[in-house]
Amino acid sequence: MYRAIRIHGYGGPEVLQLETLPTPVPGRGEILIRQEAIGVNYIDIYFRTGLYKVPSLPAILGMEGAGVVMAAGAGVTDFEPGDRVAYPTALGGYGECRTIAADRVVPLPPDIPFDIAAGCMLRGLTAHMLLREVHSVQPGETILVHAAAGGVGLLVCQWARHIGARVIGVVSTEEKGELARQNGAADILIGHDNLAARVRKLTDGAMVPVVYDSVGKDTFVASLDCLAPRGLMVSYGNASGEVTGISVGMLATRGSLYLTRPGLTTYLAQRSALLAGAKELFDLIIQGVLTVRIGQRFALADAGAAQTALESRATTGSTILLP
Ligand code: NDP
Repeated sequence: MYRAIRIHGYGGPEVLQLETLPTPVPGRGEILIRQEAIGVNYIDIYFRTGLYKVPSLPAILGMEGAGVVMAAGAGVTDFEPGDRVAYPTALGGYGECRTIAADRVVPLPPDIPFDIAAGCMLRGLTAHMLLREVHSVQPGETILVHAAAGGVGLLVCQWARHIGARVIGVVSTEEKGELARQNGAADILIGHDNLAARVRKLTDGAMVPVVYDSVGKDTFVASLDCLAPRGLMVSYGNASGEVTGISVGMLATRGSLYLTRPGLTTYLAQRSALLAGAKELFDLIIQGVLTVRIGQRFALADAGAAQTALESRATTGSTILLP
């Protein structure tokens, strides 16, 4: 038997229930992992509230984790019991153990601790997707990054600084601003009132070629207004709510803008992309270029408190659960 956090319906943190379940048996192409650390991500909240739908209920939430292989199902050749592994995007993470398709898992280098892996697999590969795939950020480029002190945000700040870009970070408090600055943001804007005017001032009127917006509803239009002509709006999250009711003409009137709404699952669909992205991420961590800040640690049983902290904007960096 093992303990896991399941939901039987969508709702507030109270729908997260600690349950004792029979230990699963890995099927063909799957492995069973004993989890050492589990990531808590904003997407877990979208699945809990029903903004994103789980395939069926009841469901175990959580997309990201790290641990040790306990058993391998038929046809698995890449992993064997005892291997250290981690994964970024597979529903079913909030448990002491779990089964998972072996092709969604990467080997974890010995010098990356489990908690660091659980704090960076989803968030770090998102930073990689944003800065390397969705748009190839160039040295000297100025980029606007919302929620710059968050889990994804701090890694984007560090990685963009490493590339040689200038980050303008948007955060809600002075303390978060200081943290984002320490992690590579050159300029900080507190709050998003009059965002375009403040970006215009910081860029001597040029505005920015790309905005990374994970806040969604509250900032979408303000973010478009910060772009230079033919700039790229990367809308990649909904922390304040889903973006609805936009018209294509908004892109034309603001200077022939581009809009994309990327999802990490698409970018990691090929196993080769997962392995290459994870290698780049792990190499940068081992070299000390990227430092994963675990801002909050909770017991597995306190998953509700962890999600409440994340959605009430009380967290910085990554949040993890310890089984
Ligand atoms: P964060 O640690 O960034 O937490 C969310 C942050 O959003 C808050 O700390 C807060 O920062 C900011 N925020 C602004 N407005 C609100 C609001 N109304 N309610 C709550 N938070 C708000 O979370 P993650 O690192 O887990 O994820 C960051 C974002 O990236 C999420 O939107 C997530 O969905 C998205 N994401 C998207 C992926 C994709 O594939 N498209 C993959 C991974 C993440 P502040 O107080 O400074 O405003």
